Amino acid sequence: MSFTAKPGFCVASLLDKAGFLGQFDRASLSWENRLREEKEADMQTPVTEIDQMIVQLNEFILPSSLMESFDVYREESVKSAARRFNDAQLSWFLDMLNRFRGPDDRKDSLVDIFDPGMYTCDHPAWEAAPGTRIEMPALTSEVARFVDRNSEFAEIAREEINEFRDHAETYADEELLGLAHIAAAALVDQGKFFHGREEAIRYLALNASAVLEDLWATDDTLWKNAPVRQIQFEDMVAKRKADLLKAESTRPNFEEKDFACYSEDEVRRFAFDIRNLFLTDHAKHLAICTRCQTRLESWTKLVEKFEQSTFTHKGRADA
Ligand SMILES: [Zn+2]
Repeated sequence: MSFTAKPGFCVASLLDKAGFLGQFDRASLSWENRLREEKEADMQTPVTEIDQMIVQLNEFILPSSLMESFDVYREESVKSAARRFNDAQLSWFLDMLNRFRGPDDRKDSLVDIFDPGMYTCDHPAWEAAPGTRIEMPALTSEVARFVDRNSEFAEIAREEINEFRDHAETYADEELLGLAHIAAAALVDQGKFFHGREEAIRYLALNASAVLEDLWATDDTLWKNAPVRQIQFEDMVAKRKADLLKAESTRPNFEEKDFACYSEDEVRRFAFDIRNLFLTDHAKHLAICTRCQTRLESWTKLVEKFEQSTFTHKGRADA
């Protein structure tokens, strides 16, 4: 049994052939440039290129689990809450929050700092189908309302609020209120309204505190005892599909058939030879479905392992 060598699975050429992306910012494809440099070595494997494609096409991805839908909703909410600030202001906010959290607990984005999933372990939503309802633990700012004044939590909370107040000193009231509004969007704290600077400081300090995260990791009783949040949110799968179907020149041209997941048989055929992907009339699906990306990735690994073992076997037989 022999398998033809896989052609270098170059996503850039794949995108050209399939015309995935319409008006696409090719300059941002750093890995495409890297590919050019490494042309001789051709070290690109299908797996790493799929990873790169996932990053690149993030805003087109159709969520494939309840948690992914929820995260897409959070990201879009934060984007709209952050609209009144420019990129420089947003990175100052992130920098200030990271200084408050400390060097060992830095995060890459405001969405990551204000992550309602932080106070959960193995949330079942990772395994559940996409939906519009999710249960989340109480926010730390809520937990604070139920704790004893003399508890360890209350003591840490007071210190953290004071420390955050110092970090926030140079920020104007409307900046802090805007940041608190972004935090509430990221935490999906629906209908949250802030009455003034001090309330915003308290909310930001408690929900961004790495020290309180550590306390939760040691003993999560307080969080467990606080009332859970039942959150209703928009159907993000439907929204993404509608966005993709909208005939806008800036978006790739997607059709209804591009939303269907591949069959097991198809995924297997793509893993053995990625050229088979171009032969289907719904190749674009790969760009927007994390589920199928993961399936193809694991099949590709299997095939590679299989090819290696047949090669080794053959080598031994020839010797
Ligand atoms: Zn799929």
